[in-house]
Amino acid sequence: MIHTALGPISPDQLGRTLMHEHVMTDYSGADFLHKEHYDRQEIVDTMLPYLLELSKAGCNTFVDATPAGSGRDVLVLKECALQSKMYFITCTGTFKANAVPTIMRTMEIDQIAELWIAEFAEGIESTGIRPGFIKVALDDGAISDDQKKILRAGIRTSLKTGMAIQAHTILPQTMREAYTIITEEGLPVDRYIWTHSDCQQDIPAMIEMGRKGVWLQIDSIGYIPYENHLQMLKTLIAEGLTDQLLLSQDRGWYVVGKDKGKYVNPYHLFFTEFLPLCKASGIPDEIITQLTVTNPARVLNIE
Ligand SMILES: [Zn+2]
Repeated sequence: MIHTALGPISPDQLGRTLMHEHVMTDYSGADFLHKEHYDRQEIVDTMLPYLLELSKAGCNTFVDATPAGSGRDVLVLKECALQSKMYFITCTGTFKANAVPTIMRTMEIDQIAELWIAEFAEGIESTGIRPGFIKVALDDGAISDDQKKILRAGIRTSLKTGMAIQAHTILPQTMREAYTIITEEGLPVDRYIWTHSDCQQDIPAMIEMGRKGVWLQIDSIGYIPYENHLQMLKTLIAEGLTDQLLLSQDRGWYVVGKDKGKYVNPYHLFFTEFLPLCKASGIPDEIITQLTVTNPARVLNIE
């Protein structure tokens, strides 16, 4: 079963999926977020043309990676789902820095996990909408004590609920440190996604982690020339890691406050530009289907 903003679906309903995008964010900081600071309808109206273009290009599911402290609003996602005819999947968890509420820094690991497990069990902010995965973020380098606590809380939430973890992680050394914590906590490694694994150049490190069973999420497609991502993808496929790969673009998004929807990166180019390039460069259709349909269904499915 997979939880979406419109309720549960079965994994075979998921279809072509982008694993890490954003409809909106609010950078005010977790302690200063207020839903009165923006107009839901204005956000939906601003983002809908981009979402309709994406749906028209062949996308069926939009995984929204904005967590609570960064401006998650599940009612915005629900409205987007109703109007775009795509599934939207939201998350529990948190980001880092000022996106972590001050009060959370004084809480124990299990107290944090309890909050996230409650969102899974009861739904988010009395909407009844349940998260489909857990978002956390690690520092760029050695993981700070605060973020280690967040990571362990995410892992314990996953152990209780079965949801996969998208962990924002840039550097291989950070991923290796996280892997030690995963092992200590006894998390099945197929519940862990090295999110933004493509935002660094160390492909042997990606192979090393992929071989251990960690999901490698290549989710910044379009930020560097397509050719670079194509080469990375072909190398990882040739290394036998097709079963570990997830794709997305980390695009969007409406920023609450002065930017609003002024600088939105469109979502549909993944389908209209990148996938045709994959096909033209010799990646077989079956593998493209596995990367965009089968693997997302495997990682998002909750037993
Ligand atoms: Zn992101």
